Amino acid sequence: MSFRDYLSEARQIFDKLYPNNQITEVDYEGPTIVVYTKDENLFSKREDLAKQIAQEMRRRIAIRPDPSIMMPEKEAEDQIKSIVPEKAGLQDVYFEPDTGEVVLEADEPSIITSRNSDLIVQIKSATKWSPRVVRAPPINSRTVKEMREFLRDVKQERKEFLHKLGEKLNIPPMPGETWIRITALGGHREVGRSSTLVSTNNSKVLVDVGMLNSNDIDEQPWEGAPYLYLPEVQPFSSIDAVVLTHAHLDHSGLLPILFKYGYDGPVYMTQPTRDLSALLQNDYIKVAHAEGHKAPYESKHIREMLKRTVVLRYNETTDITRDMRLTLYNAGHILGSSSVHLHIGDGLYNIVLSGDVKFEKSWLFNPANNKFPRVETFMTESTYAGRDDYFYTRTDASNTLIDIVNRTFERGGSVVIPVFAVGRSQEVMLVLEQAMREGMIKNVPVYVDGMIMEATAIHAAYPEFLNKGLRESIMIKGENPFLSPIFKKVETREQRQNICDSVDNQIVLATSGMMNGGPVMEYFKSWCESPKHTLVFVGYQADGTLGRRIQRGAKELTLSDGGKLSKFQIKMSIEVAEGFSGHSDKKQLLAYIATMQPKPHRILVNHGDGEKCYEFAKLIRNKYGIEGIALKNLETVRVY
Ligand SMILES: [Zn+2]
Repeated sequence: MSFRDYLSEARQIFDKLYPNNQITEVDYEGPTIVVYTKDENLFSKREDLAKQIAQEMRRRIAIRPDPSIMMPEKEAEDQIKSIVPEKAGLQDVYFEPDTGEVVLEADEPSIITSRNSDLIVQIKSATKWSPRVVRAPPINSRTVKEMREFLRDVKQERKEFLHKLGEKLNIPPMPGETWIRITALGGHREVGRSSTLVSTNNSKVLVDVGMLNSNDIDEQPWEGAPYLYLPEVQPFSSIDAVVLTHAHLDHSGLLPILFKYGYDGPVYMTQPTRDLSALLQNDYIKVAHAEGHKAPYESKHIREMLKRTVVLRYNETTDITRDMRLTLYNAGHILGSSSVHLHIGDGLYNIVLSGDVKFEKSWLFNPANNKFPRVETFMTESTYAGRDDYFYTRTDASNTLIDIVNRTFERGGSVVIPVFAVGRSQEVMLVLEQAMREGMIKNVPVYVDGMIMEATAIHAAYPEFLNKGLRESIMIKGENPFLSPIFKKVETREQRQNICDSVDNQIVLATSGMMNGGPVMEYFKSWCESPKHTLVFVGYQADGTLGRRIQRGAKELTLSDGGKLSKFQIKMSIEVAEGFSGHSDKKQLLAYIATMQPKPHRILVNHGDGEKCYEFAKLIRNKYGIEGIALKNLETVRVY
């Protein structure tokens, strides 16, 4: 069988449609064929042309200026700064060599883009870079900045990687009988260490590589890990692609382990998921070390992951193996969270893995998408699919929290809220800010400890992923709730100690969300023996976590304290504010399925404590007459 030579095919079509095109190079960049040209005039037509060629070849095409005609970055930056007037408030200029774009972050973008100004044209003709003007994010994220610098440093390595990936993607599928299987590697009939393998006669794709609970991993990396030593995924170099639904560590936490043990293929995810997972994984290593544990991977393995990360926008379809196409859809759970749609073969079969989903508009996001072009097998989470899992509304949630804070303040105590750095903490911040602004609770400092502010800054860097109302207010400095002076970042051990020792009313938001270590433990240990203080849970507490034990009413705990073990009596008030969850409750999950388009033939249920997966699968069978299955870890189902 002869392979199609896509690169020369693209060049031929280009020559036919646009002679004298001054093409200098045609190359693979992952799933995209990139055409470089020295012809400046071509850029005005490039979108139409790329579309036309893409249609003819059924491949993604991008047309870019040849780097040799573009002004060097430093020079171009100076040039741009001299062109843009001061009143535009230009904050940052950065280059995206991948697309030939230069991004201008300004306080007043309209001054640059206004129709009566020719600033865009001036910049373009002086530098040959295409300017894209955006409003400067109101909070600066260190992660976003470092990520840009890192990607610039590894540009050449990425180019080579994407070239090889493109070659691999264009090898035609093997002929013969087609089969499709789904294998449960982790997070099935349990919450934590999510990992699922989709394999066909042509490819192996892993969705998520999470950890059970970060405090269980320690020096035995395989203990809280998904079943990664199966022949199906060994050696790791036999895996074709990895897809990440979202950044929470129970989905992303052990992904770098693949790179430590030989995987060197692509990882697909949204841009915020990339930034947030790198932040959380690095923080996980730091917290593990601080507690005298050894993390199962190092930051260099996170960097290896980032070098091979291909970011996708929602609703954008990409070839990820020679017989599979991937589209990510909004899952409404946390920033950048996605449901994974896999299209296998040419119109042969479709699988959707929901990831963690919120099927309700939240303070931060739009509800999860449940309309797909096609879907035969659907896999859903069931964290709150139990018989009694009906949530309180968002209004109930904020009223409960306000009431708890007021009662605690009246008796002279302080409130500590364990939160995940990403998701719940931003929602709780929005509720507290509004409550203080409207005088529902006393104006006191809200201390934010452990990566929360940085995670919040990443939210501000990706407003297009937020719901409309928040997107609009977050971009206006005067109205951005996250910039309220009530929020104080805790940066040093001394600062933390002062807060713990203070007798004033205070509110603390601290990680980790399930009390598996992290700064929240310091506040807890300082305050747990006094009945005036309150610990408020706003998120899910998984089996086996300290948070779950406390929520269940533990009266005494032995915890490590300054290197030795000490006993703590729990006398503080333990409360739960329901309704903050980033997951769907049973009613929302059923509504998701009932209004899903099209209807799947089979539903697999995962991501729920033991019986919940099984019970929910049974309910699906009875209620909708759809085949409902709750796989156990290590089980495989053949779906085609
Ligand atoms: Zn999650």
